[in-house]
Amino acid sequence: MQRDLEQEIKELDQLPEPIKIPNWFKKTSLLLISLTLLYLIVIYFIPSSYIIEFLAARSTSTNLQNNQLIDEGVITFENNTLQLLQTAYKTANGNEIKACLQGSRSNNNILINKIHFPEILHQDFKSVIAKPCPPNTLIDIHSHPSGRCFFSPHDIAVYDNQNIIAIMCGVNTFHLYGW
Ligand SMILES: [Zn+2]
Repeated sequence: MQRDLEQEIKELDQLPEPIKIPNWFKKTSLLLISLTLLYLIVIYFIPSSYIIEFLAARSTSTNLQNNQLIDEGVITFENNTLQLLQTAYKTANGNEIKACLQGSRSNNNILINKIHFPEILHQDFKSVIAKPCPPNTLIDIHSHPSGRCFFSPHDIAVYDNQNIIAIMCGVNTFHLYGW
């Protein structure tokens, strides 16, 4: 027995030393693996184009403050125009809506006191086709119920430079263009 043990110890001594992995290497690898997993999880659940769009839209959209939108100018909703617009947005069952906002404008101060809903020819969750707004319209607005606060290539293509165009991408969130 005694000899066997001695022999065993000797053999163990002759074994090559196990490779030591430096601590910094372990930590760096762990960090890289964690970041890769996190990245994969994020891109799996949220398409990256949507993240970019969402962040950019947040910086360009305008939120209602009381009855006003303060953008490059000031839009003030009078009478019950804002309530009518918000009701139309909420009751569209997730479909896009279109409205023509009318009133008076002096420089970049716009008062909206009338809202006209043009006849809708087709609407779904990502498009609306309606009759054009009357000539006295100050703001031609349609909704993006998806929350995407960007003008689509189609929105830009049909823009005639005649008035302000706007997207309503939330009950209180708007994106205006064409001051
Ligand atoms: Zn649009």
